Amino acid sequence: MPLFAPADCPRLIVKIGSALLVDADGVRRDWLTGIAADIADRVRAGQQVAVVSSGAIALGARRLGLAKGGRASLEDAQAAAATGQIALSQVWAEVLGAQGLTAAQMLVTLDDLEDRRRYLNASATLDRLLALNVVPVINENDSVATAEIRFGDNDRLAARVAQAAGATGIILLSDIDGLYDRNPDLPGAMHIARVERIDAAIAAMADRGSASGMGSGGMVSKIEAARIACGAGVALVIASGRVDRPLSTAARHTLFVPEKRARARKAWLAGRLTARGTIVVDAGAAQALAAGRSLLAAGAIAVHGAFFRGDAVTIEGPAGPIARGLSEYDAREALKLLGRRSEEHGEILGYAPRSALVHRSHMVLL
Ligand code: GLU
Repeated sequence: MPLFAPADCPRLIVKIGSALLVDADGVRRDWLTGIAADIADRVRAGQQVAVVSSGAIALGARRLGLAKGGRASLEDAQAAAATGQIALSQVWAEVLGAQGLTAAQMLVTLDDLEDRRRYLNASATLDRLLALNVVPVINENDSVATAEIRFGDNDRLAARVAQAAGATGIILLSDIDGLYDRNPDLPGAMHIARVERIDAAIAAMADRGSASGMGSGGMVSKIEAARIACGAGVALVIASGRVDRPLSTAARHTLFVPEKRARARKAWLAGRLTARGTIVVDAGAAQALAAGRSLLAAGAIAVHGAFFRGDAVTIEGPAGPIARGLSEYDAREALKLLGRRSEEHGEILGYAPRSALVHRSHMVLL
């Protein structure tokens, strides 16, 4: 079970389903207190942890007395989410606070993680929060997202968040301890402990609909999340949250083995994006990049092309192309920063600068 060992996964995303957080009496505070203690243990052991928390709709629907768990209409779901989210964040702030941890709330929509500029923003914020040892608590911004721009389920949201946060592991906690070869209620259903490749046979095993009827995911969206995660080089575990300290209990689970990370990242950058421009760098910067560093403006000597923040650019050294990555700046701004030290950037730009021209977490060496 490598994923459960903190040392193997410097950044972890834990996704918690609605049925674990809320029951007929409201928030399951005792359980939450337990998982907050689990998270605190991991943070103390040096792991950075972000939580993707469902439960806003379920909680809000209870408070407002809405039918069908608040899912009778989109308006109901949005009103329930708006009501439930504020209570949910309060509970998270309290239970994490009791462990000496600081919680931060991030509400995101599909667009925030698919649009490349906004993806960089979300990514930089997550990176900063995690580096500060704050625990981001993330949910979909259900109260404004309409059907067309919703993730709809937090399983896929967790997979996208993991990508944006540069995490290498995801644990999906729900009311089931993993994938079964058929509906787990059927006699003879077999638990699958490890999935190397998500093929048609695996997809067919996913049973539609979640057992609790509270969340919106079910196994289908968990497999979809695993597909996104593994394709991005992130390991994903489906485990049961029906125990008191789920992150410190070595219980049965399903592990989805990721594709090799370097290859996955390269494919993502190479396949998804055509380079819109080139940043030429000096020999010193070329060396720094080869050592795994970010590209700083001080080492850049020329900018070609009309790219925008979030576009892919090729980075060229004295001996030719050396890397490809997402630019943190529009070409026009990058041009102004050429050869200038980071301390000068704020004044040149007139606003708080980014930490690099191309951050190492959005770059692959060619
Ligand atoms: N974002 C929804 C909520 O907070 C949950 C979505 C899901 O069920 O996965 O209630």
